[in-house]
Amino acid sequence: MSNQNRKVVVIGTGFVGMSYAYALLNQNACDELVLVDIDKKKAMGEAMDLNHGLAFSGSHMKIYAGDYADCADADIVAISAGVAQKQGETRRDLLSRNAAVFKSIIGPVVDSDFSGIFLIATNPVDIMAQITFKLSGFPRSRVIGTGTTLDTARLRYMLGEYFGVNPRNVHAYVMGEHGDSEFVPWSQALVATKPVLELCEESGGNQSCDGMIQISNEVRNAGAKIIEAKKSTYYGIGMAMVRITKAIFGNESSVLTVSTLLQGEYGRNNVYVGVPCIVNRNGVEKVITLSLTETEMARFNESCDILEGIFKEVQFD
Ligand code: NAD
Repeated sequence: MSNQNRKVVVIGTGFVGMSYAYALLNQNACDELVLVDIDKKKAMGEAMDLNHGLAFSGSHMKIYAGDYADCADADIVAISAGVAQKQGETRRDLLSRNAAVFKSIIGPVVDSDFSGIFLIATNPVDIMAQITFKLSGFPRSRVIGTGTTLDTARLRYMLGEYFGVNPRNVHAYVMGEHGDSEFVPWSQALVATKPVLELCEESGGNQSCDGMIQISNEVRNAGAKIIEAKKSTYYGIGMAMVRITKAIFGNESSVLTVSTLLQGEYGRNNVYVGVPCIVNRNGVEKVITLSLTETEMARFNESCDILEGIFKEVQFD
């Protein structure tokens, strides 16, 4: 990957894809941005709209509606194509519809000679990332799901509010499925270098384990609550995708809870799941294996078992 011309192709120019594109533009996070959608007219209109804002941005980004052939020299192909989760619909219900969409996308992208990194946001995101891994034949490092990146950002924001600390000084992760079985390993949650559980003990009752449980429930239910209020969620995930994109282009080796394929880490194999990973120009460089407690490891295994079960339901014929 050269950093001469940072090229991103977005496939699926709906709410999520365009929130990502808009955030890329505002953060000047790439040099060339191609918009692809089954609805070509929509992709064209979106490209026009963004281009008309270029004069107000500090960016010289080249933006246009394109096709799969444009993936050939792209560094990142971000996929947010599919159908959004409806109110009351589980992420798993989306699976069969979105699996069919991906079958129509991954083949043409690979056929274009794309040699960059897939960044997957479509839900159920862990499964869609694993479908992409399987259909593309790419190494795991180059197929990344957004995983629990957004959930982790929500957690850090809420913990920051709870402890009255800047979220940047909160080090805590949401792990597992991006969905109902996700969990927070509290033994690994720190404010500065102080464990939050110690902070709670020393607070004289002002902060408590109950408060932590409430926060993890709020994080888990945040997506559903936003969907109930405004039908879908998109700004947060768009910004999470830009964060991952910047870690790749900047060769940052930042730790992000993306979805990756476990190959022995945490004692698990062949399952895409959200875990802290070092992300840089190579994509997922390394999985960080945290020292989880027995209870946390049980939660993690439960989440992996659920994802394995769902992935088995996917038909590849
Ligand atoms: P949307 O309906 O607004 O957009 C989907 C777009 O995909 C549409 O423009 C549609 O034309 C396009 N599309 C459909 N089939 C296609 C195909 N075969 N080829 C190319 N384009 C195709 O939906 P949205 O709100 O943008 O959500 C997109 C996905 O992102 C959903 O699966 C949603 O659940 C997911 N999402 C993920 C997260 C996360 O944390 N990972 C957060 C929010 C939403």
